[in-house]
This record gives sequence, structure tokens and C-alpha cells, in this order.
Amino acid sequence: MVTRTVDLRSDTVTKPTEAMRAAMANAEVDDDVLGFDPTAARFESEMARIMGKEAALFVPSGTMGNLISVLVHCEVRGSEVILGDNCHIHIYENGGISTIGGVHAKTVKNNADGTMDISLIEAAIRHPEGELYYPTTRLICLENTHANCGGRCVSVEYTDRVGEIAKKHGLKLHIDGARIFNASAALGVPVHRLVQAADSVSVCMSKGLGAPVGSVIVGSKSFISKAKRLRKTLGGGMRQVGILCAAAFVALKDNVGRLEDDHRKAKMFADGLNQIKGLKVDTASVETNIIFFDILEGSNVKVENLCKFLEEHGILMLPVSASSVRIVLHHQISENDIQYALSCIQQAVLQFQAGNDGK
Ligand SMILES: *Cc1c(COP(=O)(O)O)cnc(C)c1O
Repeated sequence: MVTRTVDLRSDTVTKPTEAMRAAMANAEVDDDVLGFDPTAARFESEMARIMGKEAALFVPSGTMGNLISVLVHCEVRGSEVILGDNCHIHIYENGGISTIGGVHAKTVKNNADGTMDISLIEAAIRHPEGELYYPTTRLICLENTHANCGGRCVSVEYTDRVGEIAKKHGLKLHIDGARIFNASAALGVPVHRLVQAADSVSVCMSKGLGAPVGSVIVGSKSFISKAKRLRKTLGGGMRQVGILCAAAFVALKDNVGRLEDDHRKAKMFADGLNQIKGLKVDTASVETNIIFFDILEGSNVKVENLCKFLEEHGILMLPVSASSVRIVLHHQISENDIQYALSCIQQAVLQFQAGNDGK
């Protein structure tokens, strides 16, 4: 019988806290599609202020936030967007920018730290004046923190550089900032400064910040007014949405300050994994709350078997390849949970190694 669950698959698995549930129960609400929900209005204006932009819009998910943002910047069908080949928009969002928006993706290689080489970005820009063959570049997208690169932070200097290039070529810059507050905490840079160069940012409230549902996009007033129309088109207009915004408000107040602790726990977890023979984590790359660990060749441990063993002990992790596993820390994982998970992993590895040696 499993008596506890330590869910390390993602920071999306966080459950709303008592304070969030209370705020939801007491939220003052009205029809937000008609524009009258006071809690949504207050939350959006607070997010705009924190992010240093003119306006904000609550949307059902990060995926919709990115889709709306890209489509607003690329109003003309056949526009091109430059984005990293390992980014969330390109890999995990069903190709919505092309299937729904008619936007063409021009991928540039993502470096291990989540950036793309500036020279490659510049080389990818296409201004087809008079040319019959090329789509027109209208947008560059960055991701911060970069999830598939292990939650690496993209620096303010780099972001500013990309912003300058975008400006120089008359392009817009969008940041998929699903975990931008993690980047801000880890870099020690205020979030509004980190996204200063961006024309739009999408921020997930339902990742490490722990809200049950929702993301926010921020940008200029005119960007947000177009975004609002598109949100309605996509079926994302929600009536008494203040119920959700109330929870997101609590996430903002209570949980932004806790992210640093998630990062500390991730480092502790990574150090523990490195003590286990047969496993390896590049600890320098653990900058925020995400860890990728590798199973070394010849260790006789299979990812599948390891994850199955752990699941039987109530520990959930996400296998990402034949030799690596992803762990994500969040505020509902305690140090005790980490010690328990590490001891189960150690036990599993020893058992598999012994089993194989005995053959
Ligand atoms: C989770 C995530 C999204 C999408 O958010 P959903 O709310 O799951 O649609 C977008 N970008 C990144 C980097 C993410 O981690």
C-alpha cells in the first residue's frame, strides 16, 4: 500500500491552497465577456503593473496565451516567426500557430542554455521585398525559463540584445514566460526589467505559482485589445472568471516569494542524485526548479523500470528519453519528500544493479 505521493512530474500538479480556495469562494464576480468582472479587472491591472506593461489579459492556458500573442503580432497570414527548435511553442502546442494562424515557423537551433545564437537569429530574418519566394519575418520568440533546456534562465542582457535586433528589423519580440518568475528569482532581476525588451509576454499562473488554472498575457493596450478579440474567437472568453483570477491573485501574493526555495530544493535533489552511483546530473545546469538526470551507460538501470519501481512507492517522475528522467520541484514538495524520493531511487538502482549482476 502506497501511503504517500510525491509528484515530481511537473509544477502543474500543484493543488490550490486553502487560501486560494477561500479566495475563490469569496471572489466578487460578474460577466467578464461583457467586461464587468471586478476581480479579473483588478488581477489584470496588477499583472500589467508587475510586468511593466500597459495592459494584461487572463487566458485559460499558456498554450492559448502563446497562440494569441503570435497571431496578434503576425496578423497577415503567411508571416514568419523565428523561434528555438527546442521551444514549447514549436514542440508542444500542436503547431497551432500554423494550423490556426497561418504563421510559418522558422526554427533556429537552441543552445543548451536556452538561447539562440544572435548571428543565427539575424541570418534567419527574411525581408522579401520584391522577392517572390519568401515569407516575411514579423516576430521573434524567446522562452524564459527554457523548459526543455532544463529550466535554464535567459539573461536580461541577452533578452535586450534580441530586443535590439527585433527593433532594428521592425520585428516584434514575444517571450514565452511560462516560468518567468522563476527566472526573475534565480537571476535576481525584477520581472519587469527581464521582459522590458518584449512586446508581449505570456506567464503561467498554474505552474510553480500554484494557481489551479490560467495564464496571463501582457503588452501594450492595442496588443491586448486585439488579443481580447482573438481570445473570444478561440472560445477563451470566460464569464465569471474572477473565481479563477482570485486564486491566481493568491498565487501571486503567496507563491512568487517561494520560488527561490524550490530552486534551493532542486539543487539539493540534484546533489543527492549525483551521490547515487550510475546516475548523473549536470548540477551547474540546475538553475531553477527543473532537473534532468541521466542514467549512465552500463549501470543496468532502465528508465522504464526505474519509473515503475518509483511509482509503486508513490513517487511520480517523467521519463523523457531512453536514458533520462525529468524532475520538477514545487512548493508542495518538502525536504522530507526529497529525502524519501532519493532513498527510493537509491534502493531501486541498487536492486536493478544487483539483479543484473546475479544473472
Ligand atoms: C507549460 C508551458 C506552456 C503552456 O502552458 P499550458 O497552460 O500547459 O498550456 C508554455 N510554455 C512553456 C515553457 C511551458 O512550460
